[in-house]
Amino acid sequence: MADVYYRVHWSDCPPLSPEHAWSALWGTRRTPGGAQTYCVACDGTGQGTRHCRDCDGTGWTTDGWNTEDRCRRCDGAGVIDGCESCDGEGVHDCLRGYSCFADPQSLIGYFEARPGTVEDDDTVVVFEGEYCGTGVDGEDLAVPTRIIEEVPWSVFRARVS
Ligand SMILES: [Zn+2]
Ligand SMILES: [Zn+2]
Repeated sequence: MADVYYRVHWSDCPPLSPEHAWSALWGTRRTPGGAQTYCVACDGTGQGTRHCRDCDGTGWTTDGWNTEDRCRRCDGAGVIDGCESCDGEGVHDCLRGYSCFADPQSLIGYFEARPGTVEDDDTVVVFEGEYCGTGVDGEDLAVPTRIIEEVPWSVFRARVS
């Protein structure tokens, strides 16, 4: 028997379905396919500089014989071209699966810790799904296989508590 998960699903998101089952950090913009987000640090350009770890940003490395050499990795600049956060890619891969909880009480606790993110008439989707891993906030990630029911947040809360 498949596991049952609970998720708040906002009406402006695409319908709950396996092909949209990718999760990302709050506030990030998705690429058209939805499986990646644009990097926030570089605004999706991939441009920027990152600290050179080979020379710890000094531009010089020592060979252990007290002679210093210009760092070959960054050519003495101490920094390397390309955004630090995304390695110059401009995008981050999303995690597979929707953010959700296997325990309804955990779902409520999660949103009670984030006041104002969910309204009474937002929808809680109860679905059977396959577990994929753990999300960025410690929640479960799952790909839905069957939607069991959709209930308003207010009804869901009253039922659980
Ligand atoms: Zn270097
Ligand atoms: Zn970036």
